[in-house]
Amino acid sequence: MANPLVAIIGRPNVGKSTIFNRIIGDRLAIVQDEPGVTRDRIYADAEWLGKDFSVIDTGGITFDDLPLHEEIKVQAEIAIDEADVIVMVTSVKEGITDLDDQVALILQQSNKPVVLAVNKTDNPELRNEIYEFYGLGLGDPLPVSGSHGLGFGDLLDAVVANFPNEANMAYDQDIIKFCLIGRPNVGKSSLVNAIIGEDRVIVSELEGTTRDAIDTPFMTQDGQDYVMIDTAGIRRRGKVYEKTEKYSVMRAQRAIDRSDVVLCVLDAETGIRDQDKKVFGYAHQAGKGIIILVNKWDTIKKETNTMRDFELQIRDQFRYLHYAPILFVSAKTKQRLEVIPELVDRVYYNRNQRVKSSLLNDVLSDALASNPAPSKSGKRLKVFYATQVATNPPTFVVFVNDPDLMHFSYERFLENRFRESFDFYDTPIQIIPRARK
Ligand code: GDP
Ligand code: GDP
Repeated sequence: MANPLVAIIGRPNVGKSTIFNRIIGDRLAIVQDEPGVTRDRIYADAEWLGKDFSVIDTGGITFDDLPLHEEIKVQAEIAIDEADVIVMVTSVKEGITDLDDQVALILQQSNKPVVLAVNKTDNPELRNEIYEFYGLGLGDPLPVSGSHGLGFGDLLDAVVANFPNEANMAYDQDIIKFCLIGRPNVGKSSLVNAIIGEDRVIVSELEGTTRDAIDTPFMTQDGQDYVMIDTAGIRRRGKVYEKTEKYSVMRAQRAIDRSDVVLCVLDAETGIRDQDKKVFGYAHQAGKGIIILVNKWDTIKKETNTMRDFELQIRDQFRYLHYAPILFVSAKTKQRLEVIPELVDRVYYNRNQRVKSSLLNDVLSDALASNPAPSKSGKRLKVFYATQVATNPPTFVVFVNDPDLMHFSYERFLENRFRESFDFYDTPIQIIPRARK
């Protein structure tokens, strides 16, 4: 199941994003800054006392055409619809404002647990001024200071105490979890319906797991269990905020976090758009297995090189996804859809492999011999040995004399050698250079 979701809400300038950043700390999905990969900082994972959760700063979901008080209402609606716990942020500096009252009223009428934070309580004297905030009718106000990092222990204790019980139940390890992401109208819903075609059994209960209402479990004829993550999110229609980009990006990020393999859907008819890059980049950063689906292939008039040309365009526009297989499909004619579960399997198994250290270091020696490590300002990188520290995605620590000497291109070279030598196709590989002690 999903990690519990905590939504931060409040009027502008009370310190929501400061608090958001404090709560997530240094935790960023993973890997290096690569060109073309944008970071979205309104949704991220966090942890408190061993409990994992995700946080969203709803203040980051803005609507250009709405007046402020309407915008906040929509943000509150999103928080109420999506979150398990809501943190309402106010500021001791301004006291209670009209907007605070309006938000509080909406939250009171929801059934969601609310934790009330009074920010900018930067020193002990200001603590005496928080009592006024009982007037919001949201329970005990908790003094915090986002910029000084004060009060977060009590705040997070209160947040965690409100998590639903079963929230951390995970799907069984053997069940392959995947999701479809992509811009509106690329054909995600059509693909979902087509993939779960007549020959698949939709299972209502997976053994030993409580299934999440937003997910669709199914089984292929060979008996492999899958869960298609967040199909409800794909199908849900009619909310005011549904079509806004920030919201759908957040929704996609959450689905990606919960999946092993991500099907990134492009629309052959409209071609590649900038918006495609954002969520695909997030899936890559999160280290998921990735398959690129080019949907609506039926709409394209084919000539000799049509497919190859499209593929070259994808490789050019999504350089960081060089490892991802590309499949040209049509939800309409069902072309190649039967290949999808097989491909999802392959990606899943590849990324879960563990390589023996002895084999890994044989490959490393060969790689070093064929392409010696470069030097930078007179100092030469020395690579000593490597070890796989994690699967899913495969992660390797490479011990070197000085990690600063490891150039991106050399890292990419080693990555490719590991990929070819051990069938790590279709998955990002993480390489962590570390100084040998
Ligand atoms: P948001 O609009 O609610 O996301 O607010 P921001 O996090 O952007 O903060 C708004 C302003 O308040 C910024 O200038 C912050 O530096 C400042 N701020 C945030 N937290 C604190 C705090 O705990 N104490 C003080 N004095 N200022 C803060
Ligand atoms: P979503 O917003 O990504 O879930 O997209 P939908 O599944 O709602 O599809 C958007 C539109 O594209 C609908 O009108 C579909 O009928 C159409 N569509 C989806 N897949 C295909 C396809 O493979 N070929 C063609 N020609 N149209 C498609």
